Amino acid sequence: MDSSLINKIQKSKEYAMEPERVTFHTLELEFKGDNDTYTVILAADGWSCSCPGFQMNGICPHIMALEKMLKPMLKRDPLPYGGNQNIVSDVKKSKRYSEEPERIRIISFTAAFRGDNKEHLITYHNGVWDNQTSAYFAQHGISTHIMTMERLLKGWVEPVKMLRPEVLED
Ligand SMILES: [Zn+2]
Repeated sequence: MDSSLINKIQKSKEYAMEPERVTFHTLELEFKGDNDTYTVILAADGWSCSCPGFQMNGICPHIMALEKMLKPMLKRDPLPYGGNQNIVSDVKKSKRYSEEPERIRIISFTAAFRGDNKEHLITYHNGVWDNQTSAYFAQHGISTHIMTMERLLKGWVEPVKMLRPEVLED
């Protein structure tokens, strides 16, 4: 394996210990609740969820669970409780959900990644990764920052498809 790639793998392990380097700008995912699967979106104007609870209260256990799981990567205040929300029940449910990460599958996101030298922009859409701010990515289809995101979002995203996977087999 080429030594620069080994270094990048090592660096991504270190970066993954500092999730606060990541800030999600947008996020779209499927969240398997107890009864149904819902679509949760984080956009410039905030969170939304396709579940009935969110339609009524503007907050739901799915988003509350995500706020817990992604906390260092959000940099935004948690949603306020809704007037008619059953807070005790939803807090309990969101805590249980946050311990069951297999409920989540990410469809797409854009995120800023604060590297040691500069800020990177990482995008992911239906299994396709991009890191246009990385020269290494342009050549190899992989980067330290993408490998870090893979670690942080393990099980929620598909692994990056390298341009030249034979490098890994040497
Ligand atoms: Zn919801």
